[in-house]
Amino acid sequence: MSEEQVAYSSKAIKEVAVDIAIADHVIADVKDELVRQRSLYGVQRHSNHGWLPILGEEFGEVCQALQVGSEAYKNSDADDIEKELIQTAAVAISWVASIRSKRRGGNSDAKGN
Ligand SMILES: [Mg+2]
Repeated sequence: MSEEQVAYSSKAIKEVAVDIAIADHVIADVKDELVRQRSLYGVQRHSNHGWLPILGEEFGEVCQALQVGSEAYKNSDADDIEKELIQTAAVAISWVASIRSKRRGGNSDAKGN
């Protein structure tokens, strides 16, 4: 490996380490959001078609937050893109958890079923 390649690899490794450290914080935020959503809505075991509008609503709020500062933005729109991305990620995880739980035969009497 050339010195240039070694230097590039070293830089890339440091950047990956930074990304992983950030990801650890993001994952912690998503876990906190999962707890918040669970406390609000209980265990949710919707059909895939039931989950889609829930995920779509959160994704729509990500889109709203992207419009902050534009003439399309309304005061009633979501404005915190990180918060909305975390909420979207938490819903996606809950959707996968619902699929896997149903596959295992669990929680069929929870909300949404
Ligand atoms: Mg939201």
